[in-house]
This record gives sequence, structure tokens and C-alpha cells, in this order.
Amino acid sequence: MLRALLALAFLLLPSIARGEAPADGQRLILVTMDGTRWQEVFRGADKALAVDPKFTHPDWKETVEKAWNTGPAVMPFLHSLPTMGGVLHGNRDAGQCMRVTNPMWFSYPGYNELLTGRPDPAITTNDKIWNRNTTFLEWLNRRPGFTGNVRMYGTWDVFPYIINDKRSGVPVNAEDAGKLPTETRTMRMAQDALRTASGMRVLYVALGDTDEFAHEGDYAQYLSAMNRDDDFIAELWRMAQADPAWRGRTTLIVTTDHGRGAKPGAYWTEHGSAAGWKLAPQDYTIADPEGFIGSDAIWLAAIGPGVHAAPAGSACLTQSQIAASALTALGEDWRAFDAGAGAPLPFFK
Ligand SMILES: [Zn+2]
Repeated sequence: MLRALLALAFLLLPSIARGEAPADGQRLILVTMDGTRWQEVFRGADKALAVDPKFTHPDWKETVEKAWNTGPAVMPFLHSLPTMGGVLHGNRDAGQCMRVTNPMWFSYPGYNELLTGRPDPAITTNDKIWNRNTTFLEWLNRRPGFTGNVRMYGTWDVFPYIINDKRSGVPVNAEDAGKLPTETRTMRMAQDALRTASGMRVLYVALGDTDEFAHEGDYAQYLSAMNRDDDFIAELWRMAQADPAWRGRTTLIVTTDHGRGAKPGAYWTEHGSAAGWKLAPQDYTIADPEGFIGSDAIWLAAIGPGVHAAPAGSACLTQSQIAASALTALGEDWRAFDAGAGAPLPFFK
């Protein structure tokens, strides 16, 4: 016992001396990959799209068709999580289900649902409007032990509005938004933050190349972005495990804001519900009053001390459960944040 206490004191002292979070303070890394379909995450490249020169450049055909023909080939790290005690959920071929509950099936409504724990039907555009809702990031940033230790890096210039950085005080770096490929610099800044901001407890990285390339109809670059994101996430996790401040107390959550159309042909390039289409048909390249069926389907991967491979049950899990899951992983009471938010996913203790 004495030896254990001494060992604990030894572990605690250096971090307290440096003014860091307590050694037992749980930490969170959240990564989103904008508009990444479950189909590619679990199945790999779609065979029809891989051989269609409209979507796959001939130079990339072999890679898309052969090297990326399975989910684990495109995203090896995410697929390794279940073997390490983590979860990867949303494979509808295996009877799993996860979806958004907002009625729009595009980005701002999705990120709002993901970060606040409930859909807001009043959010019907991606316009730069200051979010009236409080995200769990903002709530945490006012909690003892978290204030000043919550950061966000994103590739989309609407994030300052979604996170409402003016009000929330959560630093949102979205400097390179709108330039392709935007991700490399965002990734480097996030990694620098993980390396240098020793007191940081919540790091949110929002990657957007997947959605950008999909809208351009470039299937090879869409898959390449997924593959690059997987590499980046693996490296973030490796860095966290190599750092005594993060090792053993960090939960990683990876997910997406929405899916993409599931019908054959060009539908994979678009996403949005019938309601979204009717509100602003000019925003879409395909005319379909039915909307982009299937783009409400999402997926989620997670690993860390707060995650266990519990049975998901028969109900379809929802995006609105992610905020409470993240707070639970951090040891925080999600009901104190919002008792009306979606309850934690079954994988979070
Ligand atoms: Zn999009």
C-alpha cells in the first residue's frame, strides 16, 4: 500500500509542478471525417464506382479497385480497434445501425447534433450563423480542470460559428478552410498541440477532405483522403500512448457528420434529406425531391479506458448520443450538461 502511494505521489508530482491537469484527469481526442460513408469504411471501394471513369481517374483505377477493395485496406487503424478492446460500429452488412436524428442530413445540423446531444430542427442551412446551442466543448470549457484546456482544429470555416468561439471561449482554428487539400496543415497543428499543450484535455480535430473530394466526384481522392485520415488518427493515438500525460487516460472517438447517397451512379457525391433538398434545390447537383436516401447513415469508432465492446442492442444508435458518450468517457455527468441529450452509447461506461 505504502509503495503504491509512493508510486502514485511520484506520478502526480511532476505534473502538478508543471501546472498540468491532475494525473487522473481523463482526456478526449475526437476526430470527425466529414461526409464519410459507412459503405467505404466497412466495404472498401465500391466496385461500380472504381471502374467508372467519370469518378475514378484511370491512373488510380488499380489502386481503387485492388488495393482498397476492403474496409480494412482503406482504414487499417480503425479496423484494428476491436482487436485492441475498442469498437467500430455502423456496419449495416453486419446488422449494425447508427444514424443522425436531425432532419437535414448535412454538416451544420450534424455537427450541432453531435456536439450538443440533440438535433435542432431550426438549423436548416450551413450558413455562418452563431450557434444558439451550447456544445459539450463549451460546457466543459467552463468546468474546473477543463477551462482553457479544450481546443478545436478544423478544415471548415463554419466551425467558429458552430462552436460559437466568441461565446464559448473554445479556440477554433479553421484558418485554411476552403483550400484543397486543407488537411495536412490542420493535422500538423493538431499534432503540435498534442505535443506541446501539456494541460490540454480535449482535442477535437474536424477533417473535411472526404466531403470536398466526394462533392467533386473524385472517388480515388475521396478514398485516398479516408486512407490519409486513418494514418493521421493512428499517429495521434500513437503520440497519446507515448506521452505520460495522455497514456492510459485518453479516449479516442472517430465519427462523421453525415453519410452520402446510397443509390447507384452519382448519388454518392451528394447528401441531404428530402426536406433539405426542397428547402434549397439549387445547392445540389442532382435533382431529386426524394433526397439522397441513405445519407443519414453514420458510423463510429472508439477506444480508451472508458470504452468497452458491449452489445449494441437492436435499436439504431444515434448521433445525438455522442456528446453524452464523450462526457462519460471524461468522467463527467452528462445529465448536468443536458438531461435531455441522447444517453451515452452502450460502448461507454
Ligand atoms: Zn457535403
